[in-house]
Amino acid sequence: MTQAGTAPTVAELLLGATDRLRVSGSESARLDAELLLAHALGVERTTVLAHPEARPGSGQAQSFAAAVERRAAGEPVAYIRGFKEFYGLAFSIDSRALIPRPETERLVELAEARVRTVLTGSPRPEDAPPYRVWDVGTGSGAICVALAVVLRRHGYGDAVELFASDRSERVLGLAVENAVGHGVADRLTFAAGDMFDVSGAPSTVDLVVSNPPYVPSDAIPGLPIAASFEPRDALDGGPDGLDVVRRLLAGVPEVLGPEGAALIEIGADQADAVLDLAAGALAGWTARIHEDLAGRPRVLEVDRGDEGPLS
Ligand code: GLN
Repeated sequence: MTQAGTAPTVAELLLGATDRLRVSGSESARLDAELLLAHALGVERTTVLAHPEARPGSGQAQSFAAAVERRAAGEPVAYIRGFKEFYGLAFSIDSRALIPRPETERLVELAEARVRTVLTGSPRPEDAPPYRVWDVGTGSGAICVALAVVLRRHGYGDAVELFASDRSERVLGLAVENAVGHGVADRLTFAAGDMFDVSGAPSTVDLVVSNPPYVPSDAIPGLPIAASFEPRDALDGGPDGLDVVRRLLAGVPEVLGPEGAALIEIGADQADAVLDLAAGALAGWTARIHEDLAGRPRVLEVDRGDEGPLS
């Protein structure tokens, strides 16, 4: 039994863990320690920061110590806590899926803008079919679920139908969990399949969104150790990183309707290469690059129409 008076305080636990994590190579050791302690205590990080003098019970201190050891071995904080914030929403996450990255929020923003522009731009007849979106390689479902949530919030919920697919049957369980957890399972259909070869998929859609693997194979070993806990096929895009982007561009003419567009996440150094690919694969289409919040190229937009509504 630990004597209440001698148990370490929150401040002491954080100091010890920060040192441990710094030595093990974490670049965000203090933040990691705060998040993991909050998780072990079942409180918000702000509560931890507000009570440095508190003395957690020995069970909580032990689960914190175990979490710190996992992090010290390189496991990402998101997998240890079991969730990750994305687009202001908490997503369940585990090693079946890539951890949603902040830069991917740009893709959701662009998709949202596109859908809202199309749905408000021209009057739609009462019996118009729903606007259809397909998230290819959905993983945890972060992109399509965030999009469904934000569209519903702005009153477009009923006008939009989302379809999401992934090659991995296993990861779809996680995506469904996230759709249910955020109350959008009624607008979203999930199915397993490779690229556009998915049974039950709509014959055409208005918008394709995708965060494909795009890291060149030989750059994978150089990624931070946390990435080694993520599914390799969510990261590895083949020799030049663009194998899956190529397949997406080859497939979109079949699947996109007359005003359709695709938004595809890319690596910050791939803008010129993907514009070349798009010019080769999609003659007569418009292609452009959108930057992320850090000002780096991040999303390729290809548009069948000639005056894509995005700016
Ligand atoms: N942005 C991710 C990384 O660099 C890559 C994600 C992806 O390949 N889709 O770790």
